[in-house]
Amino acid sequence: MTRTRTQNVSATRWSLSGEALGPVDLTEATNVSFGSNVFSPAVQAERLPKEVFEKLQLTLEKGEALDTSLADAVAEAMKEWALEKGATHYTHVFQPLTGLTAEKHDSFFEPVGDGTALAEFSGKELIQGEPDASSFPTGGIRETFEARGYTAWDPTSPAFILENPNGALLCIPTAFVSWTGEALDHKIPLLRSMDALSRAAIRALRLLGDQTAERVFTTVGPEQEYFLIDEQYFFERPDLVTTGRTLFGAKPPKGHELDDHYFGSIPERILACMLETERELQKLGVPVKTRHNEVAPNQYEIAPVFENSNVGSDHQQLAMQVMQSVARRYGLVCLLHEKPFAGVNGSGKHNNWSMSTDTGSNLLDPGETPAENTSFLFFCAAVIQAVNKHQGLLRASVANLGQDHRLGANEAPPAILSIFLGAELEKVFEAISTGEGDPHTPGSYLELGASVLPPLPMHGGDRNRTSPFAFTGNKFEFRALGSSMSLAFPNAVLNTIVAEAIDDLSDKLEAKGSGDVAAAVAEVVGESYSANKAICFMGDNYDEAWHAEAEARGLKNLRTTPDALPEILSGPTVEVFGKYKVLSERELSSRFEVWTEQYVIGANIEAETAEAIGKTMILPAALRYLAIGDDSGISAVTEEVTPLVDELVVALKELDEANRYPEDVEGLELAIYARDNQLAAMDKVREAADRLEKVVADDLWPLPKYSEILFIK
Ligand code: ADP
Ligand code: MG
Repeated sequence: MTRTRTQNVSATRWSLSGEALGPVDLTEATNVSFGSNVFSPAVQAERLPKEVFEKLQLTLEKGEALDTSLADAVAEAMKEWALEKGATHYTHVFQPLTGLTAEKHDSFFEPVGDGTALAEFSGKELIQGEPDASSFPTGGIRETFEARGYTAWDPTSPAFILENPNGALLCIPTAFVSWTGEALDHKIPLLRSMDALSRAAIRALRLLGDQTAERVFTTVGPEQEYFLIDEQYFFERPDLVTTGRTLFGAKPPKGHELDDHYFGSIPERILACMLETERELQKLGVPVKTRHNEVAPNQYEIAPVFENSNVGSDHQQLAMQVMQSVARRYGLVCLLHEKPFAGVNGSGKHNNWSMSTDTGSNLLDPGETPAENTSFLFFCAAVIQAVNKHQGLLRASVANLGQDHRLGANEAPPAILSIFLGAELEKVFEAISTGEGDPHTPGSYLELGASVLPPLPMHGGDRNRTSPFAFTGNKFEFRALGSSMSLAFPNAVLNTIVAEAIDDLSDKLEAKGSGDVAAAVAEVVGESYSANKAICFMGDNYDEAWHAEAEARGLKNLRTTPDALPEILSGPTVEVFGKYKVLSERELSSRFEVWTEQYVIGANIEAETAEAIGKTMILPAALRYLAIGDDSGISAVTEEVTPLVDELVVALKELDEANRYPEDVEGLELAIYARDNQLAAMDKVREAADRLEKVVADDLWPLPKYSEILFIK
């Protein structure tokens, strides 16, 4: 069937697919009910016996071990609440190493023999599940014959109700372990790393004179970028459907050069979709706050208020799920791929990260005068030291196939890790480490030059949008995460390596004896900064010259996933994860195996899809056009098209060959093979095809073009 422009017109005439859930008039205050579908502490306080509630709160607040005798009472209250909300089923949701969320639904109802059924839900069912989980990737930890994996209730992440027009489901966040106790998921290492960091930070706080804080929580606030495109184009493109990105597509005449999309007013249909997405998320207790247009056409961003890392990470998984399902109600598809369109900005996820005490103080808040805030300097220096030491591991924590198209693509940070401190903070650290200059810069104010405007306090971190790891006022922003990623592993890495650095600095502080704490901290911080400041870079990370300078500084530049993944098994990684009992060597190697395999499989799916589209859609279109050219007798047409078709045919043949794996190659070697052969051969096919797109008759071209997909709203 030939494509005509009428498709675009029907794409613009959108209407709500199916019924929206519940009342949609958000101008009615009662329709906005934050957390109404969450088994929150407030709901628990109301429904649990007082004693049970108090014990449960201890688990949540102090990170204490769960008293399993509470389970029956909690299960009963949870069930009653869920039934009132219309739930018929429950599920243990967990996060296997696929990076996605997994769930298996069980009904509450059990037949009682007289033709009726009773709703049952015991403490045991709440605490532990045994999904037939033999098909999840485990990287050799669990052979299929011993397919037992358990899900274990995580009481620190509240249960919630997921609604569907035809029913509701009680979702219980859980961890996923093998029967030998090894972590098969993303949640367990994250929880373990939060404990590790808390222990290290509390020890440091005592040395720094804080006697009241009892627990330190790491916090995360993700900014999620994504595309919304009309579903018609999505389903007309087998590459988007199978791989999440376009494998073909010439650059449109208009991109984002005009900067007319970023922060632009949000089109009505998109805004309608966002509003419903946010409303759904609010019901689930996800504190969404910010929305705006992003740089690329049809690209947007959503950001919640930060939460503790475990809950924030669970909420982020939920957000990605809800964004994708609500989009379909508006005839849209939400693309979370890191690089759906070549030559157009890709999508990342900024991971804002900090540490807060249970007494409410943010350890990375410098206050008015950073130099006087000993505690801030101490923790900030620990982060710098950790990122420098484990730069390769951090890079590996954000590696995947999609990221290889994005990192370093002149829109996202390069694959080189570096830290941006901002001029003011850098001055403070330099002064402390060299003993020269004045570290006591007073908090400065931004003069707006108009007396009617109030002076704005200047952020300690003036902005450097190109930095992969920037200090932004009272937190660090790890900007290298990909849009499709779970937050869990990068944050587990951050927490663990910072715990190690805090302990190292604490050791050094203790060694200085119990004299003047502030002076001792200044010495320790100064020494650490001098030893690690190679990682600090205030310049333009997108600049080619930075690559050479970074190399001269000895920083790692792990360009692709196969380059980065071995860092998961490096000596320092195994040591730090082992020391803090976050991941054993076996658990690390299982992750290495799973992620290597995912890369290989992903690359192969892309390469085979590209071959199929090239052979069965693009080549036939080009041949049809060539025939028209021949018929017309206009030689200029044939002369232009023939060499391109020849090039396409040759490239397809090469891709076909590359798609046959060599014998006896596996693991990382196969990943390197896929990168250097399959992906390289795909690029050549694409190059010829994209040039053909620009000459072949429009009505013969079988795929919607970027100029349609990215601009029809
Ligand atoms: P920008 O786009 O300028 O980086 P946004 O307002 O879009 O800023 O996002 C900032 C993010 O940082 C939000 O998700 C916010 O909740 C988060 N954030 C703020 N303070 C902290 C903190 N202490 N720990 C973790 N995240 C934080
Ligand atoms: Mg940001």
